[in-house]
Amino acid sequence: MNTAEFSVLLVEDEKEIRRFVRQALEGDGCRVREAGTMAQGLSDATNDKPDLIILDLGLPDGDGVVFVQRLRSWSNIPVLVLSARTAEQSKIAVLDAGADDYLTKPFSVGELLARVRASLRRSRSGHMLESPVVQFGNIEVDLSRHLVSKDGLPVKLTAIELKLLSVLLANAGRVMTHRHLLRDVWGASHIESTHYLRIYVAHLRQKLEEDATQPVHFQTEIGIGYRFQY
Ligand code: CA
Repeated sequence: MNTAEFSVLLVEDEKEIRRFVRQALEGDGCRVREAGTMAQGLSDATNDKPDLIILDLGLPDGDGVVFVQRLRSWSNIPVLVLSARTAEQSKIAVLDAGADDYLTKPFSVGELLARVRASLRRSRSGHMLESPVVQFGNIEVDLSRHLVSKDGLPVKLTAIELKLLSVLLANAGRVMTHRHLLRDVWGASHIESTHYLRIYVAHLRQKLEEDATQPVHFQTEIGIGYRFQY
């Protein structure tokens, strides 16, 4: 995908990381605007309505989690978080608050561009599926008729398995935290029941992956959640 028509707002207080990210994105044709503080970032997001926000978690005037909470009160602009390896808990908190994806520092230009392209693709499709019929590998899912087939043969999914599958498909490429998936599939009273997820993701892998022990589509984000990948 060509990113040339897109604008990115980069909210980061470290000059060197700003320079690195700007060069990589401009090299790919993006327009980049920089903000060094949370206040500036929120103001730029409001005024410029960028296609994507790249957000550092540790800002001098506030936490990235607060940034995402404020942003999500009025906007669904995708947010890609940059976090330090040590900030595991804040990474989960910011994803729960509505960030879309994260990169752990240090990262390469290749990783950065891959994540940016994936986020822009999702933002263009408005987080919705373009059609109720989705294909991946040798699987076809018809979400409107609740039919799943593998190599043309029907696969039986339970209601919960289908719900989990449809939430993952609607958020393809995005990191979904345990909490977020549990809330969407089982409801707010089950957000601590992480073992449900482990069991039901295992069912989906068993039924829909070529090799359930080497999952390609239902990926684990260790300590955080799951991500569906086409
Ligand atoms: Ca920082």
